[in-house]
Amino acid sequence: MGPRLMAQTVTGPLGAEGRYWDALVLGHLELPRCVGCGRWHWPAVWRCGDCGAWEHEWQPRRLAGEVFAWTRTWHPFAGAEGLEKPFVTVLVTLSDAPIRLIGVVEGEAVDLRIGAGVIGRIDRTRFGDAAIPAIRWSLAS
Ligand SMILES: [Zn+2]
Repeated sequence: MGPRLMAQTVTGPLGAEGRYWDALVLGHLELPRCVGCGRWHWPAVWRCGDCGAWEHEWQPRRLAGEVFAWTRTWHPFAGAEGLEKPFVTVLVTLSDAPIRLIGVVEGEAVDLRIGAGVIGRIDRTRFGDAAIPAIRWSLAS
């Protein structure tokens, strides 16, 4: 099963974000930027709402940024069966694109605070019967 097939099992019919999932499967992050006006779009869109352009260039971005918000989850819920409780979910503002991504924090999150520097890596998680890419964040040293 190639990356595209895997992404299809994750997202159903590939939408505008298909390339995001394909890149994660291959081990890196790519995000779309409008060719017409340069605006970053996340979630991905087919057409830019600012300038009307249909073309987006997917650019590699680093998995690094700072904590915008975080929460600790103590209770189980559907879709998170593979995570040991409690776990910390973080919303990260990327360092090199005005985009925020969500993910689970690895290890002890004792010193986690708004504005803390974090780095990410791509892991896998269970979602139903599928193993899908997931971004894991940890405090930058
Ligand atoms: Zn645009």
